[in-house]
Amino acid sequence: MTETALQLKVHSIESFGTHDGPGIRLVVFLQGCNLKCLYCQNADTIKNEGGQLMSLDEIVRRAVNMKPYFGQKGGVTISGGEPLLQSKMLIPLVKRLKAERIHTNIDTNATISTPYAKELISELADLVMFDIKHTTEPGFEELTGRNELKTAIELISLREKSQKPYWLRYVLVPGYTNKPEHLQWLISEFSANQYLERLEILPYHKLGQYKWEALGEKYQLEDTPENTREEIEIVRQTLDPHFREVVAK
Ligand code: SF4
Repeated sequence: MTETALQLKVHSIESFGTHDGPGIRLVVFLQGCNLKCLYCQNADTIKNEGGQLMSLDEIVRRAVNMKPYFGQKGGVTISGGEPLLQSKMLIPLVKRLKAERIHTNIDTNATISTPYAKELISELADLVMFDIKHTTEPGFEELTGRNELKTAIELISLREKSQKPYWLRYVLVPGYTNKPEHLQWLISEFSANQYLERLEILPYHKLGQYKWEALGEKYQLEDTPENTREEIEIVRQTLDPHFREVVAK
């Protein structure tokens, strides 16, 4: 395969992202996801159909053009959808970005465990941001449509063993993931991990509801309230003593 034949299925690209990893980032959202989270804010990225094919050359060119803005911390985040569904093609992309000395971050739902995905997680990505969708197997399935809690734990453990930095992200969904036992599970499962740099608590909100409706699908969390600032702060304070850094968004 020639270099120019290498392509990724891209949903969209954000040029000055500040929410998906450290510093200023070029965020590449890939099309397609293996989960169907009830709260998904980008329901239009779930389907494998759609998106546009973009060559690795084009993505690398955009990243190199943005290098002056990245500074010490920034770089490229590959997000989605679920980016590791396209792991095989991400390997040459990440290698080329590394050759350009551009920091790479993969934002994953932590449920893809192919050999290519594992190579990215354990060896190639400078940073990995793993979602923790739920802390129990039935809860994981209820919220995402699949029970992949064990896979998530295994992939996080793989990253920890590789002695490379990673973040965890946890969406606080009222009635689903915000109970004390959920927080206790996070503490008992991950607080001893040495390479876990940051735990991010993401509030649940309904910003993506209109996308479900535009796709002709019912938004199932219509009656779920958004978190209060007080609740988020209490959760942050509960978790904070147990982790190197806890950030509530
Ligand atoms: S993993 Fe992310 S993109 Fe996939 S359905 Fe869940 S929230 Fe949406």
